[in-house]
Amino acid sequence: MNTHNLLRALTSENDKTPIIFELLNLKSDTDQIYALAKATRDRVFGNKILLRGIIEFSSFCRCRCSYCGIGAGRRKSGYRMTKEEILEQCADGKQAGYATFVLQSGEDPTYSVKDICDILSEIHNRFNVAVTLSIGEFAPQEYARFHASGCDRYLLRFETSNASLYAALHEGQTLESRLECIENIKKSGIQVGSGFLIGISPDLNDLAKDIALTTTLALDMIGCGPFIADNDTPLAGRSFPWDPEIALRTMAILRILNPLSHIPSTTAFDVLIPTGRDELLKSCANVYMPNITRQKYRADYQLYPGKPGIDEDCSVSMEKAIARIRRCGLEPSFVRGDSLLKTTFPNFMVDK
Ligand code: SF4
Repeated sequence: MNTHNLLRALTSENDKTPIIFELLNLKSDTDQIYALAKATRDRVFGNKILLRGIIEFSSFCRCRCSYCGIGAGRRKSGYRMTKEEILEQCADGKQAGYATFVLQSGEDPTYSVKDICDILSEIHNRFNVAVTLSIGEFAPQEYARFHASGCDRYLLRFETSNASLYAALHEGQTLESRLECIENIKKSGIQVGSGFLIGISPDLNDLAKDIALTTTLALDMIGCGPFIADNDTPLAGRSFPWDPEIALRTMAILRILNPLSHIPSTTAFDVLIPTGRDELLKSCANVYMPNITRQKYRADYQLYPGKPGIDEDCSVSMEKAIARIRRCGLEPSFVRGDSLLKTTFPNFMVDK
């Protein structure tokens, strides 16, 4: 099949995996994939790119995922922010115009569920913003407590759809329990984001299955990044297994299959391809997440080497984000940008 027919089949066939595989395997004539992804993004989101501020509040993690530079015992130094520090950063972010904060950390049991709930309630009461948590696996009733305290959204990637690879990468954990967690977050009423690590499996069939699984999960948000090996992990020295363009094509196919999902242009793309995040903005992404963590902490939160922006402060990261979005012919937007799967289309993009 040529690209045109593959794209037609992609949106009409029930079993999408073989078609996705063929699209990933194409050696030429791939422009149509990006053109369709862009048309899909533009039709739903117009020229608006939602800005969301990330606060990385703890670099400690009890897990040791094989690909992660901040896994337990892998960094000589680390930090934990106090509740007051987190609230100060939210106050600065609110002042700068953000309407969504993404609170991210390793799985750090030093913060109890009650601590997290207290932080959420305080942010909710003081700032009237949306809050996304990205802090790992919890029991179903704990997600419900987060939701009741003001957690609007939750990010939990499944990383790979290959169950045996998942078990090999995540000591003592299973893909089944990760997918169960994602379902539990959904059931709690929180908007859910998930996704995978592009290239963690060198098998293109697995990548096709990752895209298909992401689509089956019907996610409010889809967050993916390319695999970048960290020298302090068991995967040190391994390179991205294909032409880096495959990572961009993955995102374009995800956009075509998931027109309403929020898809960020994630930082790791800039490490794989110098203009990576621009390419995503030009084709399929509708979200950009500047780091608003204080500069003094940033070097200690490197999940992979070469992470951009670790020497910047919040205002520089934001100015650079806005300039970049505009250079790509798009406009930054500071609205909350809730899930389109739960909002009435097309009023979701009305600016404040
Ligand atoms: S990927 Fe997340 S859970 Fe795994 S070690 Fe890194 S911070 Fe911890």
